Amino acid sequence: MSASIQGTHLVGGISRGWTPVRPIHRHNPPFLRAGRCLSQALRCQGASTAAETIAKARVVRDGGTRDASMHHLETERFSALDRVSILSEALPYLQRFRGKTVVIKYGGAAMKDPTLKAGVVADLVLLATVGIRPVLVHGGGPEINIWLTKLGIEPNFKNGLRVTDEATMDVVEMVLGGRVNKSLVTLIQQSGGRAVGLCGKDSDIILARQMVEKEIGFVGEVTGVRSDLIKTLVADDYIPVVASVASNGAGQALNVNADTAAGEIAAALQAEKLILMTDVAGILHDRNDPSSIYRVLTLRGCAELVGQGIIAGGMIPKVDCCIRSLSQGVRATHIIDGRQKHSLLMELLTDEGVGTMITG
Ligand code: ADP
Ligand code: MG
Repeated sequence: MSASIQGTHLVGGISRGWTPVRPIHRHNPPFLRAGRCLSQALRCQGASTAAETIAKARVVRDGGTRDASMHHLETERFSALDRVSILSEALPYLQRFRGKTVVIKYGGAAMKDPTLKAGVVADLVLLATVGIRPVLVHGGGPEINIWLTKLGIEPNFKNGLRVTDEATMDVVEMVLGGRVNKSLVTLIQQSGGRAVGLCGKDSDIILARQMVEKEIGFVGEVTGVRSDLIKTLVADDYIPVVASVASNGAGQALNVNADTAAGEIAAALQAEKLILMTDVAGILHDRNDPSSIYRVLTLRGCAELVGQGIIAGGMIPKVDCCIRSLSQGVRATHIIDGRQKHSLLMELLTDEGVGTMITG
């Protein structure tokens, strides 16, 4: 199918007619150079985390102790000058985003692999260390299914929504607010960050009302966000980690879509960016072909793709929440591949970016 949607740019040969460039970078050659250099470094075969790159550069500067493998890395991969250049060329990005809030949704399939998860967390800590203010919002469907099964409760879905009876809601709350949330908090702490784990019920961060389709049980539609606690935490350099369990304002927990929760939190915080990390490269024209990715989509383009059935299933709440958060003042929204190493850093600190950007 040919895609003639105005304001969309596809790679992979479907359409090359119109190429919106990220506005902040368009007329700024130093950004382009910085982007390429850093992204090359991040992509470099066998490159370790950017945090490691920074740490190694620091060892060189400080004349600290170096082991043989580090010496090998320095000489084989980058010269000391290369690596320091990479850092200095990232400066415009760091200056641009310093002090800015970035809401990141992480969950589902992209969170299953422990190595990938540790990598995402390390990138998050790096961002916080350089003065960017990340807020992590997470779901955890696969882990909920594991625990439901262990407890002899069969996971049950209707129109893509989890049928959440009372027993299931208990498990959702325990697993998301407990195991999944605390495992992310622990990983952040272990990577040298300072995390505070919360769920939407804490201080009514996420308020919701039960959906009208009563047969799906305690599933909520987000009605509001109280962001004061999150603002206090980020101002004090903590990384808030928020599980997507909402309060109905009367003591009942409700299961809400984590993308939607992240979008509303981003809007309430007037975040610089909303980044949804998932288990695909971005929005694809053909779901079986990662090269058919839409790099940039407008709101209208998204609506047309939903109408054509190209955007479906779990991608619909992602697109919806991007649209809603953009209309409420969030400056940019992105759907990126949580399975790709350093995708978060590539999106924030390089010109190339990754995944699909949805713009107004
Ligand atoms: P998450 O756990 O990250 O929320 P979901 O499974 O809810 O992930 O949503 C992502 C899924 O959306 C993809 O794995 C894919 O199956 C589906 N999807 C539907 N339409 C598209 C599309 N056009 N491009 C990419 N993925 C799509
Ligand atoms: Mg989903």
